[in-house]
Order: sequence, then C-alpha cells, then structure tokens
Amino acid sequence: MEYVEKHGEQEGCFFCENLALPDGPENLILHRGEHAFVILNRYPYTNGHMMVVPYAHQPSLEMLDGPVLAELMQLLVEALSVLRQAYGAASFNVGANIGKAAGAGVVDHVHLHVLPRWPGDTNFMATTAEVRVIPEDLKDTFERLRALWTERRQ
Ligand SMILES: [Zn+2]
Repeated sequence: MEYVEKHGEQEGCFFCENLALPDGPENLILHRGEHAFVILNRYPYTNGHMMVVPYAHQPSLEMLDGPVLAELMQLLVEALSVLRQAYGAASFNVGANIGKAAGAGVVDHVHLHVLPRWPGDTNFMATTAEVRVIPEDLKDTFERLRALWTERRQ
C-alpha cells in the first residue's frame, strides 16, 4: 500500500492492479526495481515475453524522468540476458506500442515489450495474429525466469 501513496495507483489499470498484489504466479511480476518492474505477458506472443514497466502511471515515455528512463533501459538489458540464459535466444524484438492507434494493450500506462525470437519465427506483426503456439506453461515460465533473475542479482 506504500506503493499506492508513492506512485498513485490508477483503478482499472492492468499494471497498477498487478503491482498491488504479492509477487508470484498470480501477478507474474518477475522483478521490482526502484522506479520500474518486470512482468511476464499473460498472453505472450512467444515463451518468455516480458514487459518492462515504470511504476509511474503515465501514457508515454516522455512523461518519465531521467532515473526512470535509465532504469527501464537497465531492466531491459537484464531481460535480454535472462532470456539468452533461459532459452538460448540469440534474437529479440524490443519495443513499445504507444497510443491506441499503435496497438497498445494498456494505453494509459506505457510499457516496453521484450520478446525472444528464433530462426523460423514469423515476423513481429504476424505473431500478433490470433493463433499462437505456446508450448511452455506460463507458471513454469514464471518460476524459471524468476529464479534466473534472482540468481543474477545475488
Ligand atoms: Zn497504471
């Protein structure tokens, strides 16, 4: 609840609501940093699809200040390392959909996507189609990636 006062939780926001829950397979939060956190996508385009998200409930990157932006990039780099380690991924899509017309799933709370990719994957746009093949259970993915993330931090 300290979080709520500090950052101004917004009702009905997917990210803010998950932040209010204890971390685990329920909210899929892998790591909480000082200004930002890392959460698994509940409807991943590929196994290990993560999002790096500021605590601040803001719709776009230019509303964030320097330390927040710096930590977003730092966590994004950590996400790449963890995904390389977990899946042997050598390719990635990294990016943000800002605003409704860009396809943002949560329009009011900006977030960066990190997806591991493999040779033979269809391209990023094609993977947003209805049919997705997700062989690994989301809970298993979560436990595995969280263990790796925690290990790196020790
Ligand atoms: Zn929010």
